[in-house]
Amino acid sequence: MSQLPLQSAELFHQNCYVGGEWVAATSGAKLEVDNPASGEIIGNIPDFDASDTQHAIAAAAEGFQQWRRTSATTRSDHLYRWYQLMLDHSDDLATLMTLEQGKPLAEAKGEVLYAASFLRWFAEEARRAYGDTIPGSTPDQHIIVTRQPVGVSAAITPWNFPAAMITRKAGAALAAGCSMVVKPAEATPYTALALAHLSQQAGIPAGVFNVITGNPVIIGQTLTSSPTVRKLSFTGSTAVGRKLMAQCAEHIQKVSLELGGNAPFIVFDDADLDQAVAGAMASKFRNTGQTCVCANRFLVQDGVHDAFVSKLADAMSKLQLGDGFAEGTTQSALINRAAVEKVQQHYSNAIQQGATRVFGPEPHDAQGNFVAPVLLTGINPDMQICQEETFGPLAGIIRFDNEAQAIQLANDTPYGLAAYFYSQNIHRVWRVADALEYGMVGINEGIISNPSAPFGGVKESGLGREGAREGMAEYEESKYLCMGGA
Ligand code: NAP
Repeated sequence: MSQLPLQSAELFHQNCYVGGEWVAATSGAKLEVDNPASGEIIGNIPDFDASDTQHAIAAAAEGFQQWRRTSATTRSDHLYRWYQLMLDHSDDLATLMTLEQGKPLAEAKGEVLYAASFLRWFAEEARRAYGDTIPGSTPDQHIIVTRQPVGVSAAITPWNFPAAMITRKAGAALAAGCSMVVKPAEATPYTALALAHLSQQAGIPAGVFNVITGNPVIIGQTLTSSPTVRKLSFTGSTAVGRKLMAQCAEHIQKVSLELGGNAPFIVFDDADLDQAVAGAMASKFRNTGQTCVCANRFLVQDGVHDAFVSKLADAMSKLQLGDGFAEGTTQSALINRAAVEKVQQHYSNAIQQGATRVFGPEPHDAQGNFVAPVLLTGINPDMQICQEETFGPLAGIIRFDNEAQAIQLANDTPYGLAAYFYSQNIHRVWRVADALEYGMVGINEGIISNPSAPFGGVKESGLGREGAREGMAEYEESKYLCMGGA
């Protein structure tokens, strides 16, 4: 692309950020990055190999030695400046994100603010890395527990939230005193590189925050086979998370995994239906259905099934499919052809097994990477749409009879990231909230992400939490000091 529509053109980097320098791959190899809406090439990024990655790890090790000795107040001030710079450049960051990821510009702006909010949260949290004092077991003994940074940390992040999945990790890591090497998704490197640019502007010392791009398998293997890297935080699919967890076993690296979900969205007979439809729209169609916490299975009780379907179809008719930059667009291009084919496959599989299309066009008629929203009824739990994340604008409804059945259906999956349910009955609210085997539950609420709440899943949806106090603890070690003879 010749000229990008940015107010600050210097935010667009086509080199990696390592040890405070902008560097190409030693081999000179590059990868192309395209716009998923048009297929147009936006630019190139370096294709780092193992030795380039080792160089980044060495830079992060140097950065760590300096950063760990700064005061919590200094780290907090730097993170706060970085946060402020994200706000100052929010329009450009959103433009870059829509260009490389496709999401509607208004959503991209929302993500930039959400991503920035993690830097502010952890700027505040940096100054509260409190330890403990514990009564000794003899009168002359003092027991003290301090918190220390884990060390050089690595992050591997997905394309669906190109900014927030990075700041949610980096804010916590830097607040705790760790340095970080980030490998963003190949599809969305420019938002990550712009964040690196702003970290430099914020005065974060060289080597503390590094961004590298290239072959994910080689970079992942180099990061996990290095004894210098003490922690890996990964967000992405369960299949890749499983491999990385095994790789981390070699040097017993600490691991955090934010993986895939298969979120149930339950509507009980006693729900406020308008509230439930608003929540369903927000949960299902944000980012054109490409979020890990997207409602993936709608479970609707007999008594409100038909009314809910009709109201949901009506709300879906107001969605507008188009280019992410076009005024009024609410649904835009999926990330690539494979994503389109997955929606088509889940659709065909459901139709073959008896589902009915009640709203939207045939997904097989999709133009390019643009798939229009579709609503299906008559879904059963054996269909692919219920077994795997669809990651697209295809919604399917399962009808159920009673509360026990809804809970059984909701929990019948190896995943456990987010679940949602709607009910106005306080007793049911507590029963169902307790019974759902999920890390996060939205109760009469379709959007649950928040920097001050612990985000994460159970079962095959992951390990550890991001955001909140728990998010920073992922980058800390407790050190127990026992002083005797006082
Ligand atoms: P993915 O294919 O697992 O990729 C995620 C990241 O891992 C990318 O940076 C990718 O690099 C890299 N990667 C791929 N194979 C690798 C390997 N063998 N070793 C090391 N790194 C490797 O997932 P995705 O398709 O980008 O993202 C969608 C998935 O992420 C969904 O399952 C979604 O639910 C999940 N997700 C979870 C959360 C959460 O908080 N739980 C949040 C967002 C997304 P390349 O891009 O270069 O291939």
